[in-house]
Amino acid sequence: MRAFFALLLAFFALAPAHAQEPATTFIQAGRLLADPATGRVLSAHTIVVRAGRIVDIREGYVGEGEGEVIDLRDRFVLPGLIDSHVHICHENGPDDRVRRTVQTAADLAMDGVHYARVTLEAGFTTVADMGEENDAIFALRDGIARGRVPGPRILAAGNALSPHGGPGDPAGYRPDVGHVLRRPSLCSGADDCRRVTRETIHRGADHIKITATGSVLSDIASGLGQQFTDDEMAAIVETAHALGRRVTAHAHDAAAINAFLRAGGDSIEHGTNLDAESVRLMRERGAWLVPTLLAGETVTRWGNDPNSFLSPAIRDKALRVGPRMIESTRRAHQGGVRIAFGTDASVSRHGENAREFGLLVRAGLTPLEAIRTATVNAAEHLGLADTIGSIAAGKAADIIAVDGDPLADVAALERVAFVMRDGRIHRR
Ligand SMILES: [Zn+2]
Repeated sequence: MRAFFALLLAFFALAPAHAQEPATTFIQAGRLLADPATGRVLSAHTIVVRAGRIVDIREGYVGEGEGEVIDLRDRFVLPGLIDSHVHICHENGPDDRVRRTVQTAADLAMDGVHYARVTLEAGFTTVADMGEENDAIFALRDGIARGRVPGPRILAAGNALSPHGGPGDPAGYRPDVGHVLRRPSLCSGADDCRRVTRETIHRGADHIKITATGSVLSDIASGLGQQFTDDEMAAIVETAHALGRRVTAHAHDAAAINAFLRAGGDSIEHGTNLDAESVRLMRERGAWLVPTLLAGETVTRWGNDPNSFLSPAIRDKALRVGPRMIESTRRAHQGGVRIAFGTDASVSRHGENAREFGLLVRAGLTPLEAIRTATVNAAEHLGLADTIGSIAAGKAADIIAVDGDPLADVAALERVAFVMRDGRIHRR
């Protein structure tokens, strides 16, 4: 018996192992911020990558003759960036109203393929999509995961949940046209919201996004206050958590932010008018704030344009929200609230996501703190801390490089020179 096993072992040892053995890639990094949590910058190290994973970080420049060597000796190397709030299948603009009536799900998927590539090439190797007009996002997410099209790893909400008449209910259309555009994610009353939560997860949602308050870009003058009731939000959170999904809320006014946090919600998108109680609740519950300052900057610019394409209702809300966001983020940060990076790209242009870093610094974060929001923080916020967010053995090989030193000037992150996702190179 023993001899048999010895023979078996010998057979496997003699088998042409390197025929199946995946190739090894050696990334020689001049400067390396492997773990933004510590902030320690290593010089002259080599990251060893095999089968899409990081297997080792070695001192010095090694790997010549052992596999593919990537020379990033004159670059600054860091983990792939994470944007926790995008809408990757479209971009907002003057033709929004017509676009919604003519674009099919297939059209949105095609645009999503383009925007996904642009986003990945900008160094964002993971994004969380916070709501689309239909289920095209699931096809895009799965196509990228299968390697059919290049793009960031996507976590998708599908349709955002909204009350009837709320931000998810198309406004500003002829009633019969508006009716056709209605999404299946509207609900009214706790029981109905439980049903819609279950159905959204059943269709493929990785997380649940709700619109707790009015929103800037819906064409209706119904304010920025709470729209889902306390019991509707509690029903959604309870149902989603029971099915293993996080819940995040689009929320501008404080009453809704606080009601959602008391209902057990996991994170707040925008948080424009958060107050001292919001800060207290977010800290107490470990809830994340996703500030989306780039969206604030964009709608402020649109609102101040004398030839603005915004309708009067939208323009009024844009100028009430946009200019306030930096200040509320500063307040949350000073209060010790955990911040995860998110841009709301679709309001801003896809691929310009890294402009958010400069705005976070304007809100009082140090460059290192801003980088943490898009790496270790966002990874934890999205429940992927074991897989992404830092460069460490066992994690996905999501690695980017920039020119210059982003710890001295975060704008360096707007000039990405190298992108690898899951071990595949997408820019060099
Ligand atoms: Zn959004």
